Amino acid sequence: MADATTSVGELRDRVRQFVHARDWERFHAPRDLAMAISIEASELLERFLWRGSGSLAELSSEDRSAIAEELADVLIYGLSLANALEMDLSEAMLAKLKKDEAKYPPDRYRGRAR
Ligand SMILES: [Mg+2]
Repeated sequence: MADATTSVGELRDRVRQFVHARDWERFHAPRDLAMAISIEASELLERFLWRGSGSLAELSSEDRSAIAEELADVLIYGLSLANALEMDLSEAMLAKLKKDEAKYPPDRYRGRAR
């Protein structure tokens, strides 16, 4: 069972095993996985639609469970896409964070959304 110390690599392996056990690699072309991420992201958005501001205080435990499932779907397809592309996702994320840290230095962007 996963816990807070489960690594990205371990999660990728779990997703890879899930896909392989069902012989679904044949359906997991990168383009289709990118589409699946977008579709699941829309399902995530749907959980906030017509629900006020969507702030944490407005969400019931049922809402939070449904949101967790949709967010998990997005991330699972993201891991699947990284697997299909044989991409080191940890490295890609760290590289992107480094790029964003340089682009948005805290002394200039603290408290600013733009
Ligand atoms: Mg879903």
